[in-house]
Amino acid sequence: MSRINVMKPWLDTEEAEAVAEVIASGWVAQGPRVAAFETAFAEAMQAQHAVATSNCTTALHLALVVGGITAGDDVVIPSFSFIATANAPTYVGARPVFADVDPLTGNVTAETVGAALTDRTRAVIVVDQGGVPADLDSIRAVTDPRGILVIEDAACGAGSTYKGRPVGAGADIAAWSFHPRKLLTTGEGGMLTTSHAGWAVRARQLREHAMSVSAAERAASVIAPAEEYGEIGFNYRMTDLQAAVGLVQLGRLPEIVARRREIAAEYTQRIADIQGLRIVADPSHGTSNFQSLWVEVEAEFPLTREGLLEALAAADVSARRGIMAAHRQPAYADRDTGSVPLPVTERLTDNTLILPVFHQMTEAELAQVVGALIEAASGSAVAS
Ligand SMILES: *Cc1c(COP(=O)(O)O)cnc(C)c1O
Repeated sequence: MSRINVMKPWLDTEEAEAVAEVIASGWVAQGPRVAAFETAFAEAMQAQHAVATSNCTTALHLALVVGGITAGDDVVIPSFSFIATANAPTYVGARPVFADVDPLTGNVTAETVGAALTDRTRAVIVVDQGGVPADLDSIRAVTDPRGILVIEDAACGAGSTYKGRPVGAGADIAAWSFHPRKLLTTGEGGMLTTSHAGWAVRARQLREHAMSVSAAERAASVIAPAEEYGEIGFNYRMTDLQAAVGLVQLGRLPEIVARRREIAAEYTQRIADIQGLRIVADPSHGTSNFQSLWVEVEAEFPLTREGLLEALAAADVSARRGIMAAHRQPAYADRDTGSVPLPVTERLTDNTLILPVFHQMTEAELAQVVGALIEAASGSAVAS
């Protein structure tokens, strides 16, 4: 038996060749490949505009800046998310206000967002947690009448659908990640998609120091036009090396999603008889790419979540604790982040774990994980 990791990116010779071509071209920074990747990504996600960034955290930051969110504003977000969701509003001086999540999806809902609204709420960041689509329309039914901006954190969501369309397609603005822990990877990388042309233009400038003339435009002319810096920007650029990988990866997305859903269905079927293990499933309003296939270890299971992690580790299976809760991290524990109780967030963060799923997972590897789960359930594994 060899170690089974929770995730493994699927990168092949096509990606290596694409990078070699970029190197041979002599232009490795943000340039024509980034532009081509933006166009292809916008098309695949049914978005009007796409702006590539250095990662999803910077895309979230830009989304808040172009959306006009600033100091003194409240931004409602799930605590049940990677820390970047909370950090982005903090970067613009706003206050992240934590909302609880639904136990089935791990996502905020119209009810949990409604409960966390304050008279200073100017934006909500809705996360498609672990790839499970959030019910955006019902949340917007609450926020739109109040003029609250909804930003979709689709970091995990490439390949997931909401009401028959790609997640993010119905959002005013969405942020995506190409970290290797997600379905598509460019090493590091991100994307901002939006239906507002003006926001796309401003995000494009802000990611490049707020220069009035892009570096690519300047390089294309013999005498570079003089540029101007109208506001304080950032260097949040993606490189052409990354975009070349992204273009190949994007072509693989349908296959990657299909394979992950197949593996998720296998797990679901094979552990259906285990008492006390609840596996995440598609919600009624969409389909998940199962970026994180999590199980909740319920009270009737013979082991705790930590015990099950140890039992899996003993079988050389490297599962992972479930999604973190930002409100419990030292960075946020002493901050004012609203006062809504977060019982479901705490239950899920304490009792869930993420099972290995990756494109090239073999039947033997799947059987090894399932076998370890069944053994742990029967009480024959070493309990802790
Ligand atoms: C991974 C992730 C991010 C951060 O993405 P990076 O590209 O690593 O910056 C943000 N939000 C969520 C929900 C994530 O899962």
